[in-house]
Amino acid sequence: MVVSTHPADDRRGLDQQVEATKEDHPPSTHDARRQTWRGRSMKKYQVALLGVVALAIVAVPAIADHAWANYHWARAANPVSLTLGSNFATSVWDSYLVTSRNDWNVSSVLDLSIVSGTTTPRRCRASTGNIEVCADTYGNNGWLGLASISVSGDHITKATAKMNDTYYCPGCVYDTTAWRNLVMCQEIGHTFGLDHQDESNTNPNLGTCMDYTNNPGSNQHPNAHDYEQLETIYAHLDGGGGGCKGKNCGAGAPAAMSLIEQDGPGQWGKLVARSHDGHSEVYVLDFGNGHQIITHVLWAYGEEDLEDLK
Ligand SMILES: [Zn+2]
Ligand SMILES: [Zn+2]
Repeated sequence: MVVSTHPADDRRGLDQQVEATKEDHPPSTHDARRQTWRGRSMKKYQVALLGVVALAIVAVPAIADHAWANYHWARAANPVSLTLGSNFATSVWDSYLVTSRNDWNVSSVLDLSIVSGTTTPRRCRASTGNIEVCADTYGNNGWLGLASISVSGDHITKATAKMNDTYYCPGCVYDTTAWRNLVMCQEIGHTFGLDHQDESNTNPNLGTCMDYTNNPGSNQHPNAHDYEQLETIYAHLDGGGGGCKGKNCGAGAPAAMSLIEQDGPGQWGKLVARSHDGHSEVYVLDFGNGHQIITHVLWAYGEEDLEDLK
């Protein structure tokens, strides 16, 4: 996939993504194998997913943009100050959070600090104005990482980044420095309004955690293009009238928006975008009047792929 560096292309909205014509490459055997795994391993969601996957095949295009639609945190000046709340069931993620915070803090438009979380690792409820970062054993449900943003129009009001410890169990394939760095860096990156730079896991790594790969060694941190994209997303300021600012963001949002726990597709809403190989999906839960929760899902690799990775 060619990564667009044109701001207008980068900022193409989700609606346009959904309406864009589907890529017409025939599925490779590799892709087909993954589909088979997903049908086999995710029995819990099999019935629901069959419908979702069928929809995806006919209607949902590949995700192509590096900005996540126009989503961004409102602020009157740059850099935007954001807190990363630490909510981990075990301390193993602590140092990775520091690494990701330091990585993203290189951006001229971000000022990030790590604070004690305001939720529990299990619930991982979002809190206004914050990014809550959580890890717990959420179960054998297929997902490695989730990033959810609550938005009011284009403005992000709160966010969560979740890592599923079930797949990072001691000695498991994902229990490596490289995988932990990639997933945490990527999920936190989404909460700023970034999308993936590339979603093929078999082409050469781009050197960013926002690139899909089955070999994360050189994709553990952001690259220059991520920082450029952030500067584009945060080029305008939200001073003056209108918009939502600070703790007032999301005023008028339904209470249910603050209560939902997003462990599985039943809480994610409607599938609106899907990567070509199916390892990334975006869901939207719409509460009306511009209030939405949007979730980026990073699915784990299948059994055969895990054998390849050993
Ligand atoms: Zn704005
Ligand atoms: Zn992602």
